[in-house]
Amino acid sequence: MNGAKQPLKSLDDALTQLLGYAEPLTGVEQVSTFAADGRVLMCDVVSALQVPPHDNSSMDGYAVRCADLADLKQPLPVSQRIAAGSAGSALAPMSVARIFTGAPMPAGADAVVMQEDCVVQPDGQVLVQVAPQPGQWLRRAGEDILLGAKILSKGERLTPASLGLAASIGMNQLSVARCPRVALFSSGDELVMPGDVPAEQMQPGALYNSNRFFLRALLQRMGCEVSDLGIVPDRFEATVAALQDAAQQHDLILTSGGVSVGEEDHIKPAVQSLGQLDLWQIAMKPGKPFAYGRVADAHFIGLPGNPVSSFVTFLLLVRPFLLRLQGVFDVAPKFIAVNTHFTMARADKRREFLRAKRNAAGGLDVFANQSSGVLTSAVWGDGLVDNPAGCTIAAGDSVRFIPFSELLA
Ligand code: AMP
Ligand code: MG
Repeated sequence: MNGAKQPLKSLDDALTQLLGYAEPLTGVEQVSTFAADGRVLMCDVVSALQVPPHDNSSMDGYAVRCADLADLKQPLPVSQRIAAGSAGSALAPMSVARIFTGAPMPAGADAVVMQEDCVVQPDGQVLVQVAPQPGQWLRRAGEDILLGAKILSKGERLTPASLGLAASIGMNQLSVARCPRVALFSSGDELVMPGDVPAEQMQPGALYNSNRFFLRALLQRMGCEVSDLGIVPDRFEATVAALQDAAQQHDLILTSGGVSVGEEDHIKPAVQSLGQLDLWQIAMKPGKPFAYGRVADAHFIGLPGNPVSSFVTFLLLVRPFLLRLQGVFDVAPKFIAVNTHFTMARADKRREFLRAKRNAAGGLDVFANQSSGVLTSAVWGDGLVDNPAGCTIAAGDSVRFIPFSELLA
């Protein structure tokens, strides 16, 4: 299909359609909690205990019964010593218990006095100097996690904090979605691999393959198992064979280049001969041309060749697609509102994703050259300004900003 006369598709429509194809992968993997960072949970995690398991002290000091301290001038004997990891006994009346952070409260005690507010007398008795409030310096049993509480949900992407939370209820293994297996190809006769030809010997028209480097790194950050198949040979039969082979063992075949309108390219006819290919023209800048197709049971996604277009379409379309394959429901990147410190006097017909950077004054600066071939903009920037079609930007305007930290995690 030649997309020359196709109407532009909105990014939201393109994403909705793409996510509609992203049937979550079947198969569950049991992994050590240590190894589960960034993986997606395949079942809810419900707690069989409460955390903390018992009321405990949040200070080094003395566990007391507040009613025993009506007269602050009267020192009280220390009837027991309770360190973290040991359990005390009921607090004897008119006495205090030496207690340390994390140690369980003895029965009968209703507050902790920090040691800085006490004076130990020569005979070892303790004079409390500040009247305690019932409940002070206590951590209540179950204040973090109640018995039976759902602490993590199916479809949630695990973070370092969630691994700690799972460990806090004793989970040393977690059920997660398997990693998407992705075959990565580059297309374009002009492409040369760094290392193959020294810079001074590059032929006119030749270009180092930069997309391969950031696409592989992006896929790895998304938890994919990547087969990097390099630059596919520039022959129809060889391309068909490579695609057929890749489709057997991969969930997704990802390529860059060769999806522009009207371009003669060997990947396009090869995908079309094996399965189906839709060429989309998306109303976004950078990143207008985009392809989705299927080869046997594998998904096929063709990204534009221009490096920034490839980078941005990966972040805004492929990333959510890969998350959905792993069972994540909420895949939309979160934006923040930031005030610009720049002006964009010329409105574009397409929704633009400008490479921008937060400055020390809390505002946003924009990279001067927003060309889709200028990869420097993506390194200089720390996120994308999502500027609606037809909109200019004046200094001080509040814009939608999606930090790369949100998109690269
Ligand atoms: P295409 O989408 O194939 O028309 O390519 C658009 C532009 O991106 C051309 O200037 C290509 O040379 C360039 N390009 C395509 N693939 C890559 C790549 N892997 N690395 C760097 N530039 C590329
Ligand atoms: Mg090309």
